[in-house]
Amino acid sequence: MRIETISVHAGRAVDKATGAVTPPIHLTTTFEREKGGEYPKGYNYSRNNNPNRESLEECLYKLEDGKAAAAFSSGSAAAMSILQSLSPGDHVLASDDIYHGTRKLFKMFEKWGIESNFIDMTNTRDFVTSVKKETKLVWIETPSNPLLKIINLEEISGLAHRHNLVVVCDNTWATPVLQQPFEFGVDLILHATTKYIGGHSDVLGGSVISKNDEEFFLKIREIQNSGGAVPSPFECWLTLRGIQTLPLRIRSQSESAMQIAEFLNRHKSVARVHYPGLPKHPGHPVASVQMHMYGGMISFEVKGGQAEAMKAASKVKLFTRATSLGGPESLIEHRASVEGPDTKTPQSLLRLSIGLEHPADLIEDLEQALS
Ligand SMILES: *Cc1c(COP(=O)(O)O)cnc(C)c1O
Repeated sequence: MRIETISVHAGRAVDKATGAVTPPIHLTTTFEREKGGEYPKGYNYSRNNNPNRESLEECLYKLEDGKAAAAFSSGSAAAMSILQSLSPGDHVLASDDIYHGTRKLFKMFEKWGIESNFIDMTNTRDFVTSVKKETKLVWIETPSNPLLKIINLEEISGLAHRHNLVVVCDNTWATPVLQQPFEFGVDLILHATTKYIGGHSDVLGGSVISKNDEEFFLKIREIQNSGGAVPSPFECWLTLRGIQTLPLRIRSQSESAMQIAEFLNRHKSVARVHYPGLPKHPGHPVASVQMHMYGGMISFEVKGGQAEAMKAASKVKLFTRATSLGGPESLIEHRASVEGPDTKTPQSLLRLSIGLEHPADLIEDLEQALS
């Protein structure tokens, strides 16, 4: 089935007990045992499993054409489960421009003996020379946050597999509608479902999706069940509801983002636009192969540095000044000040999450803010 159909139907069925077309929310922590002690419906306690979580997980792995998914209470909890599956002494090779929260997690795990290196994975030479005998995992984010760098998934996965490494791709920015990392050899996909998948800026969540239901994923499942960073039934229900419109939303957001990136690219107050849909973006050729569209996120650098960037952000009327992304409303953010003093993000950079408004209204707002 095609992704539009999967989005509407996967993990959902008419409720057998009531005929309800929309699934009920199972607000229960515990499930009844049979006289002999069995759990006939397969559920025993909601930390281990719950019908709403099971529905969401089924939908998520089907969207990515994988075998299994584990849902978590946030994207960061999902990312943490991957690191917790490693052992002291293991080494992770990560791409250099990744979500700053993920970078903080890598730092946090140093004291448990998990070392990580950040390298430019747009360049395979750096990759080959950085693999060590302790390396276990490769962590890719493409398009990256906030510079929209594009990493060649097929090339990096191919190199990684020669060294028997597990390849993780954070697919939050592309979504399974625009990019299907398993097609290019990736082993595990991470999502902050908080963003496009939930899609309405009203529910946090994360998930790890596995191409094969194998050993590494079983460790993730055990961490999910025993660690307990699980989403509530209502959060699962909201996320599953959001997914029904995911393909429509992300395509509309990508179309608008393309128009807005072209507008910014022509604007005389703008020094540089980071958007892989622009032919001059260094990742454009690879993005054109591994993505169906270029996504709803844009970063751009304002001429005049931090002061001018902050000024433009202060003048918007339709965009909302806020962090996060992937919701129906467009957001603008001075990224460096969110990431803190040791950030490498340019001070002149503003990041846009393009929502579902009419692109002409968004362009008018940016025009007046940049004037
Ligand atoms: C937001 C985000 C995360 C973290 O997700 P949370 O739900 O905020 O914990 C991870 N990766 C990327 C690319 C993100 O944008």
